[in-house]
Amino acid sequence: MKRGKNMEENGIECNSVLDGNFEEVPRKKVIEFKPPLYRQRYHFVKNLVNKHQPKKVADLGCGDTSLIWMLKFHSCIELLVGVDIDQATLQWRRKTLSPVMGEYLSPRDLDLTITLYHGSAVERDSRLLGFDLITCIELIEHLDSEDLARFPKVVFGYLSPAMVVISTPNSEFNPLFPTVTLRNADHKFEWTRMQFQTWALDVANLYNYSVEFTGVGEPPAGAEDVGYCTQIGIFQKNVAKATETCFSEQHGEHIYKAVFTVSYPSLQQQKFRKLVLANEVLREVESMRQRFVQSLKLQEDMETGNQSEDIGRSVTHSTLLGQGYTEAEKANIDKSPKPFRVGDRFYVPLERLLAYPKVNRLCSNVETLRVLIADSVALNRDGSAVRADLCDELDD
Ligand code: SAM
Repeated sequence: MKRGKNMEENGIECNSVLDGNFEEVPRKKVIEFKPPLYRQRYHFVKNLVNKHQPKKVADLGCGDTSLIWMLKFHSCIELLVGVDIDQATLQWRRKTLSPVMGEYLSPRDLDLTITLYHGSAVERDSRLLGFDLITCIELIEHLDSEDLARFPKVVFGYLSPAMVVISTPNSEFNPLFPTVTLRNADHKFEWTRMQFQTWALDVANLYNYSVEFTGVGEPPAGAEDVGYCTQIGIFQKNVAKATETCFSEQHGEHIYKAVFTVSYPSLQQQKFRKLVLANEVLREVESMRQRFVQSLKLQEDMETGNQSEDIGRSVTHSTLLGQGYTEAEKANIDKSPKPFRVGDRFYVPLERLLAYPKVNRLCSNVETLRVLIADSVALNRDGSAVRADLCDELDD
């Protein structure tokens, strides 16, 4: 299915020609959705993800994986799966799902794996068990009656996720489109709100879910009665969430064929945590060192070579200025051990570094900080402070 061919996305104008005289009959107004309807559907799912913070999300009938791509930016999601029967469509944009340079330089907090499967939403595959959210956006209307009957058994009965979102065209909206019976040539049906809600309530009752109805694509003024262009059912499982181990121990049906899988760099992976931490530490130390050198030069100017011994205080104040910290953070930094100088070496105690929020977010105690940065950052003899040189600046 090519999205552009949908009547609902094109907003085509009705323009008739009578008896070859090119006489125009009144046009039906163009229905233009802003943002386009498919984007409104994706945004609907994104908002739902923001609200419910699912960890494992699967998109059945994911098509060109646009929704998966949008969802990969949600930090709560650790596993994203797309399933489609059209392998060519899955392959088309899969490269856009791989991490880019920025995602290595600034890794996510949590792991993320994205996998695309070639398979049908009406077949059981145990790798989709235990999900928090399964989305089926504009999928069910592509299923013939046999597959439509199997669909709830698989999705609700077998996969049984905490939440299911199903969107499908609302056929009551169709008369607002010019010359439309079905919105897409591959649609097997399009339902009125009553038909969809009857089906959805039956499914919900059978599999112990509750369901709420809404939609996207507002009808134009004067035609509010027809309802949203896309109708949406949000199903939530009534029973408590099953534990993850329960699912991970299940082996069984692996019917789908994995066509793409990728893991994202994250701070949960030691090598990336070390890299980011060392980077952050070096950045803070360098910034303190530069401010310290500046303050030294100032003092030298003022005292004509008579250097102040009270380095700690001058460093403290100068390093904190204009850094965008809250008062509480500033106070916390100020009460931590001060940077100090010995000869042409400048030292920043690890405890002080831990007082900086960005470092603290990555590592909360001195021991771990020492171990994580030891490979890439110079420390003093007892490993209690980071060491930096001052000699170049002092020579200047
Ligand atoms: N969900 C995507 C979106 O909203 O952009 C694509 C929607 S497109 C209208 C329907 C998709 O469902 C197509 O990619 C089609 O290949 C897929 N599809 C149809 N029958 C399917 C089935 N039984 N199992 C999985 N995918 C199916």
